[in-house]
Amino acid sequence: MSESPSPCVSLEEILSSFKVESAALQQVAARFPFRLSRYYAGLIRRPDDPVWRQAIPSLQELSDSDQSPDPLDEERLSPVPGLIHRYPDRAVLLAGRQCAVFCRFCMRKRSIGCTGDAVDLERAVDYIAVTPTLRDILISGGDPLLLPLEMLDTLLSRLRAISHVEIIRIGSRLPVTDPARITPELCRMLACHHPLYLNTHFNHPLELTPQAARACDLLSGAGIPLGNQTVLLKGVNDDPAVLEELFRGLLRMRVKPYYLHQMDLVQGTAHFRTPLARGMEVVEALRGRVSGMAIPHFVVDLPGGRGKVPLLAETARRQPDGSWRIRTCDGRMVAYHDPA
Ligand SMILES: *Cc1c(COP(=O)(O)O)cnc(C)c1O
Ligand code: SF4
Repeated sequence: MSESPSPCVSLEEILSSFKVESAALQQVAARFPFRLSRYYAGLIRRPDDPVWRQAIPSLQELSDSDQSPDPLDEERLSPVPGLIHRYPDRAVLLAGRQCAVFCRFCMRKRSIGCTGDAVDLERAVDYIAVTPTLRDILISGGDPLLLPLEMLDTLLSRLRAISHVEIIRIGSRLPVTDPARITPELCRMLACHHPLYLNTHFNHPLELTPQAARACDLLSGAGIPLGNQTVLLKGVNDDPAVLEELFRGLLRMRVKPYYLHQMDLVQGTAHFRTPLARGMEVVEALRGRVSGMAIPHFVVDLPGGRGKVPLLAETARRQPDGSWRIRTCDGRMVAYHDPA
């Protein structure tokens, strides 16, 4: 079942169902590919709502030409095609260029949905096998869970057979964009490859549907700890009340909010970008209001492949006499005596 392509909705069809003119947006889709699962299309309530903005092309994508297609230098950091090795102990293996929905804000907009050479997973696995510092392999993409079941099973088996690979992580947006593809059969296969972690990618409470909850439940039931990476998106979720509802809803589905990402400086995505301070403010606003479990790290991935850095509002200040002043979550400064 996970191999048969789920039905997609054409751009023409979705636009005409909301009586939106399509010619100009077809041109955007000619530059940056469009794909939309029928399920995710069904979450759209009206043009320009938070689901629409994530999935439907915008003319603004074409007016953002100063940025780079690959600001994180992923191509330069790829010792073999499809493997990004930036940190000593971790690497990202790109499982393809297909996703159930091509998110308009995608950091890999340069390649997602594009045709090109098939990804050579063999070479990537061989590189990992001869690089003993690599303990943590993150399979991302393109959506790894769209690979044919046997191909993914073989890939995971080959990684598991490498003694220095301690953990495998999968990044998949299918629980959000096409949850019916998370089948018991897929989960049974994944459960054979523990320790396996999965990070998914919910951005808005509208995505927390019963179908999504069931997909997460199946994955958790297979013993896979679930995390979530949210991208902070202007006009979608750059609001503490929206993110509070999202993160609390995720915890109820046994999904731990892991990262809140600052939008990367990727060409074609400027209309989604918020000022750097916004993410810090949002996380600060949640602190003390919600369970610490519900609060992700706000991170920026530095251009040029310098890596992810958590950004925190300053909460502690050392005084000249060596004592500390610490800001409480409701904004008062209190003295703290550090006996050490
Ligand atoms: C994000 C990322 C990782 C994983 O980072 P964590 O902070 O460990 O989740 C690894 N490699 C690359 C290239 C990445 O972009
Ligand atoms: S699912 Fe992830 S990789 Fe695929 S288009 Fe969306 S953000 Fe990009």
